[in-house]
Amino acid sequence: MGGVRTVGLDIGSTATKCVVLEDGRDMAAKAVIPVGAGTTGPDRAFAAALAACGAAAADLGRVCATGYGRNSYPGADMEKSEMSCHARGAARLIPGVRTLIDIGGQDVKVLRLSPEGGLLDFVMNDKCAAGTGRFLDVMARVLEVDVAELAELDARSTRRVDISSTCTVFAESEVISRLAAKDDVRDIAAGIHRSVSSRAAGLARRLGVEPQVGMTGGVACNAGVVRALGAHLGVPVATSPLGQFAGALGAAIYAYEEQQIRH
Ligand code: ADP
Repeated sequence: MGGVRTVGLDIGSTATKCVVLEDGRDMAAKAVIPVGAGTTGPDRAFAAALAACGAAAADLGRVCATGYGRNSYPGADMEKSEMSCHARGAARLIPGVRTLIDIGGQDVKVLRLSPEGGLLDFVMNDKCAAGTGRFLDVMARVLEVDVAELAELDARSTRRVDISSTCTVFAESEVISRLAAKDDVRDIAAGIHRSVSSRAAGLARRLGVEPQVGMTGGVACNAGVVRALGAHLGVPVATSPLGQFAGALGAAIYAYEEQQIRH
């Protein structure tokens, strides 16, 4: 007989993440589907996470939705803001984090957390693709590689090539002309990562950068961006292998707490 299993579903603009949490503590299962709000992503992520831990929907406790598409998912019992869920999940995944930089598919957020992991303040850039996962997805396509291969290319860069345009459309043209000029793909990848990290660092400085700094969101899977961000800020940037699930984990924790109150 297992414990109480609650579910957190983070319905992003680009990807849906689902976490099944046992007794508010242990992650029994997780799933990510690379499509988000308004797609089959939420249903598929939910089904995949359930299958991964062998649970049936009837065995589950509360389901909490968060993220950009949280209002449009009928399978949830409750919803909670992205910022609250990210703070909650990140504090669990990166103990001691005080400044959290989350780069997702279409936005960049910086959160300030209290020593107890509560959300104190945040800033967000969601007006433009520059500096987001979308920017990296576009550039990877031009370089004819998968976005997951960019970090490895960057690690083998030997010469500095800067991408000076911040606008995604102009930067795409700049990368195309760099390729035409026979610049090395590895050096271009490193330049792209510096560009993304300088945008995030600028946003973080607006809020104030207090260590421990941590990074979450799908782009935190990219070690090249994490390294460049640390170089821009001049402090180490901590990550978690589960960083993309911070919002979903936070939602599952809130669902567990709500369940405790009601029972
Ligand atoms: P959302 O804003 O939808 O919540 P996520 O935080 O899940 O988005 O981030 C999605 C972005 O993460 C994608 O646009 C992609 O650039 C990046 N990403 C996802 N997986 C990887 C990976 N394995 N390696 C590098 N980048 C990744």
